[in-house]
Amino acid sequence: MVEKITPRSEDYSRWYTDVIQEAELADYAPVKGCMVIRPYGYAIWENIKEALDKRFKETGHVNAYFPLFIPMGFMQKEAEHVEGFAPQLAVVTHGGGKKLEEPLVVRPTSETIINSMFAKWVKSYRDLPILINQWCNVVRWEMRTRLFLRTLEFLWQEGHTAHATAVEAEEEARRMLDVYIDFAENDASIPVIPGRKSESEKFAGAVTSYSIEAMMGDKRALQSATSHFLGQKFAKAFGIQYLDKNNELQYVWQTSWGLSTRFIGAIIMVHGDDQGLILPPKLAPIQVVIVPIWKGEEEKEEVMGAVKEVAKALGKRFRYKVDDREERTPGWKFNYWEMKGVPLRLEIGPKEVAEGQALLARRDTREKIAVSREGLSERVSEILDDVQRNLFRRAKKFLDDNTYRLEDYGEFKRIIEEKGGFIYAPWCGDASCEEAIQSETKATSRCIPFEQSEKLKRCVYCGREAREEAVFAKAY
Ligand SMILES: [Zn+2]
Repeated sequence: MVEKITPRSEDYSRWYTDVIQEAELADYAPVKGCMVIRPYGYAIWENIKEALDKRFKETGHVNAYFPLFIPMGFMQKEAEHVEGFAPQLAVVTHGGGKKLEEPLVVRPTSETIINSMFAKWVKSYRDLPILINQWCNVVRWEMRTRLFLRTLEFLWQEGHTAHATAVEAEEEARRMLDVYIDFAENDASIPVIPGRKSESEKFAGAVTSYSIEAMMGDKRALQSATSHFLGQKFAKAFGIQYLDKNNELQYVWQTSWGLSTRFIGAIIMVHGDDQGLILPPKLAPIQVVIVPIWKGEEEKEEVMGAVKEVAKALGKRFRYKVDDREERTPGWKFNYWEMKGVPLRLEIGPKEVAEGQALLARRDTREKIAVSREGLSERVSEILDDVQRNLFRRAKKFLDDNTYRLEDYGEFKRIIEEKGGFIYAPWCGDASCEEAIQSETKATSRCIPFEQSEKLKRCVYCGREAREEAVFAKAY
């Protein structure tokens, strides 16, 4: 425990797995490509869930649960959907020792099963909108896996909605993208670029896909959440129709949207450093760790008395932990909790007891601040807020410092090869240019950002007139 982790600058990918192992977030499962989420990692997920679930409910959604098994025939009803997911499907052919009449797919996403139910539930315009979310696991058979970022099975939430009009569904897709932006920026301190996915990058079965893209510490992009306007594709495939006010049959308009445990990977990579994890206070399972420092029984009694008082004062407002293990030295504990990314450490020794103080150490800046124990809870609250904001500022500066706007392809290639980062470049909209860029530089179009440059010129690749500006980057 608390081994030295590989420095980020030496090998970013090793650093990433070292942090996950040493901070006890996750481990490799017996089945290749699967992941065990350990209690500390799961506690982060629980905080993510809570933060999002609250927002979903505030925007009118309710939770439900649909089965893990989907009849194979359902997957085949929407042509693009099955084509997109076919290579990743896990299929159950036997049950109870017998060959099944129809194979069952282990859900890779639940559009088909949920929409088959919507078809039963929707009869009239009065039944709309349906605003449902589910928290569950999904399975996608991936060949190249990485903890949190890409695993055979992962946890997520998937929202599925049905509306009377296209405008309403469009608005819903954008509203939920806004929910993800708000969560990413305010709770996870991760700045994101929202935009529309290109035709080749969009979800299999969507009319329009939106995403938020974040820059990781190695300047690669991570798609952190998506929201899709599905049009009437699934409505037509599953026959979801309602009688409108004029008593005429109409197909519904739909959306789906999701955020997964992949987001934990983003938190690790955006904020972490060579000492390990750095967690944004709002999502940290432990916001303050209290480390008592003493020698001999007499000091111990004094110090532990003060620690109890402090714990009582903090207990109502913060998630805290007292590390009073006697078999570990304070120095060892400092390293241990730094590795785990706890935003604030509070030290109390004989000196602090005598002076009525506590010593606070910030994980983000590693700055130490002596504060009075009177009014401590208020001070801790202020500092945690400041850590939360500082993490965002730092990540935003990193994003800005490594973002380029250009239209020269030579420069494009040079930056991707030598520096990495995000490139905003004008693009003709033709998939063949996107493909050529990807095969020549390994950079993909991440999204067509909502914020577009004023003056569009020539496509960065072919030189024809540009239709819009896209963000290109190497991505996870
Ligand atoms: Zn072009």
